[in-house]
Amino acid sequence: KKTDDQILVIFGASGDLTERKLIPAVFDLYCGGFLPEHFAVTGVSRSEYSDEAYRQKVVFENEFILKKEAGEDKLKAFADAIFYQPLDTKNTDSYNTLKQRLQTIDEAKGICGNYIFYLATPPSLYETIAEGLSHVGLNKAENAWRRLIIEKPFGYDLESAKQLNSKLLACFDEEQLYRIDHYLGKETVQNMFVTRFANSIFEPLWNRNYIHRVEITAAESVGLEKRGGYYDSAGALRDMVQNHLFQLVALVAMEPPVKADAESIRNEKMKVFQSLRPYTKEDIKTNVIRGQYLGSKVRGEDLPGYREEEGVKEGSKTETYVAMKFFIDNWRWGGVPFYIRTGKRLPTRVTEVVIHFKPNHHHLFAHDKSLSNAHNTLVIRIQPNEGILLKFDMKIPGAGFRTETVNMDFHYDELTDVYVPGAYERLILDCMQGDATLYSRGDSTESAWQFVDTILKAWEEDDIPVYGYPAGTWGPEHADNLIEGENMTWRYPCKNLTDDGN
Ligand code: NAP
Repeated sequence: KKTDDQILVIFGASGDLTERKLIPAVFDLYCGGFLPEHFAVTGVSRSEYSDEAYRQKVVFENEFILKKEAGEDKLKAFADAIFYQPLDTKNTDSYNTLKQRLQTIDEAKGICGNYIFYLATPPSLYETIAEGLSHVGLNKAENAWRRLIIEKPFGYDLESAKQLNSKLLACFDEEQLYRIDHYLGKETVQNMFVTRFANSIFEPLWNRNYIHRVEITAAESVGLEKRGGYYDSAGALRDMVQNHLFQLVALVAMEPPVKADAESIRNEKMKVFQSLRPYTKEDIKTNVIRGQYLGSKVRGEDLPGYREEEGVKEGSKTETYVAMKFFIDNWRWGGVPFYIRTGKRLPTRVTEVVIHFKPNHHHLFAHDKSLSNAHNTLVIRIQPNEGILLKFDMKIPGAGFRTETVNMDFHYDELTDVYVPGAYERLILDCMQGDATLYSRGDSTESAWQFVDTILKAWEEDDIPVYGYPAGTWGPEHADNLIEGENMTWRYPCKNLTDDGN
């Protein structure tokens, strides 16, 4: 695809995300030869930096840029394309200064007016910045394009997400808006789409006739890591489920799109959100489990409980764990339960999708009790040790028909010599090329919020417990009871794809 000449304007330029993820991602694009000939980055935030001082901060002194491998010449050439403009986003006049500065950089670099504005500031400023840009006419251009990337979180609940959408749409068209969800930038997430729709062995089975249940886990082993203030007002449902986990659900559950383009794919994802069976308050009590980690000793280390962490309000009820069971009421998925869970301070860091196929209708080897529940499982590992694992039964060599479950596995790291771009690298390049496939559309963001909003409201009423779980365990026991049925549990994944604790 063609990448037009352009300026990437980053709001929140002195912040953590810019230094850790955004500038390194743009640098990787530069090293990979993906940037156009005429290109510049302009950092914007309130702190005072000269261009030179800003280059020192985000390039030469940035520990997240792999300097040694790149070499001095490359670093210097890259740094020459980086500029800085101090600006308080709340001051409307300062957008004129920004406009003039961009014009000067544009003329010096021969860029012709294509700009991406990347909003990496506190979310409370997203609307203000969009309005400020629109106020000075930076939102539209006659012979050039303008795009706006919006970082997560997109809204705090349904109402705020709707309000943010409508404020942004008053200044920009939907086609100009790129709502980022960095999960979608992961190769393994995109590969789910290919696994389903490029292989004739999976798609015919991908429905209620053959699939017993779908399970998605996104576990973190870490706790708050100094993000207490932010996390305590968000919680796992807002931080992980509404965005990342529902994006995974949409990819697992969507119908084949008419074409592999942004509009067709996003239309199909939207239909999944529209088909989510709404919860009643009673459903929420039994089908949504929230938990909070308690202090515990893990491998000799004393870990604090959530309420003892810095930045957490006394007696906080914020959930650090959610598990839920729900249904997608459409032709393909009628009656198939979806189980999703996410949490902090779980035994390991892992994200994976598990498709449990139905057992055989007739157990030919049923004299062997261990086989009465045998079923095939497909595990799509998103991170770490990315790969795909298919579990199936084979005969144990020797007399009779004794069987055992074996693994057929593919690991991404076996693809040596293949460069795997980072999530931000991929997503920024897509936006540079005008491809919104991996970004969320406004309507589906609102639909996902709508589903989650019912839960948030029920929790506010306060008669639904927050269960404690010791740090380093798989969450409250109540979550195990969500998966009902003889010998059925969650898969308890280990660091390695092929190991599990079941
Ligand atoms: P941060 O380190 O606190 O940075 C915030 C940035 O916004 C700073 O550059 C700050 O610069 C700027 N800013 C604040 N008020 C401003 C104003 N009135 N005018 C102009 N600039 C202003 O936050 P962060 O961790 O980088 O996160 C930024 C956004 O990305 C947040 O929405 C966050 O939710 C999202 N995000 C972050 C991560 C991550 O790993 N960090 C991951 C996912 C999403 P000055 O103080 O110099 O003005």
